[in-house]
Amino acid sequence: MSRVAAIGIDAGSTTCKLVAVDRNGAILGSLLEPTEPRVEVQVRRLLEAIRDEHGAGQAVPTIATGYGRKLIKEATRNLTEITCHARGVFRDLGRAGTLIDIGGQDSKVIQIGEDGRPVDFMMNDKCAAGTGRFLEYTAARLSVPVEELGVRALSTTDEEPISSTCTVFAESEIISLIARGAEPDAILRGLHRSLVGRVVSMARNVGIVAPLMLSGGVAKNQAVRKMIAEATVQGVILPDEPQLMGAYGAALLGI
Ligand code: ADP
Repeated sequence: MSRVAAIGIDAGSTTCKLVAVDRNGAILGSLLEPTEPRVEVQVRRLLEAIRDEHGAGQAVPTIATGYGRKLIKEATRNLTEITCHARGVFRDLGRAGTLIDIGGQDSKVIQIGEDGRPVDFMMNDKCAAGTGRFLEYTAARLSVPVEELGVRALSTTDEEPISSTCTVFAESEIISLIARGAEPDAILRGLHRSLVGRVVSMARNVGIVAPLMLSGGVAKNQAVRKMIAEATVQGVILPDEPQLMGAYGAALLGI
């Protein structure tokens, strides 16, 4: 008999994640792909793949979260990313406190209560600044792959301040900086500082309660982690797989 007790699906705006868990909440397997235009078709394919891999039947509870969650017909339930990220991170780190989740097109600050449920949150899904998209879009001008952004930004102590808060204007600013011979890594450092400034100011509005935790794909970026820690004068902690926390939390809530 299959050990899969539940499957969580996070149909995000940028990436699509699936996590299968056993009845104790241990991760048995996961899948992650860039989100395709027809996310419901993509999820059907990924769901079949994860079920086949683990011998799981169609009756296994399947919980959807993320931007496209309402499109997922196979889901037994759908839940908000706030609930799912809080649950996943709480289970992984075992701590109440403030969680900052930075995804591809939005960022959120979530207060996790003693029982792992969200007690307060704030979300920015209106403006690309303060999201992964801001770094991806602006860094494309410098031809740096997303996985290298953080290392490159930390490779120098020089920093070109980026004054534009808007993604499109920030790109124009980069073009001018390049034309003036500015160092690409120093520009990257300035871009990271700008993103972190936005996210930290949102966290301050909600109120930071230690420990400060991170989730979402952008938590994989070491410069973002370091600058958040510096700006808040706090250590930050994060799960091993920050990008999977929404799907993991969804799966846990299906057990
Ligand atoms: P969503 O759930 O909103 O689709 P994710 O939480 O999957 O978004 O985060 C996607 C973002 O994570 C991308 O915009 C990308 O910039 C960033 N990202 C993904 N992998 C890495 C990595 N290895 N290093 C730095 N950033 C990353």
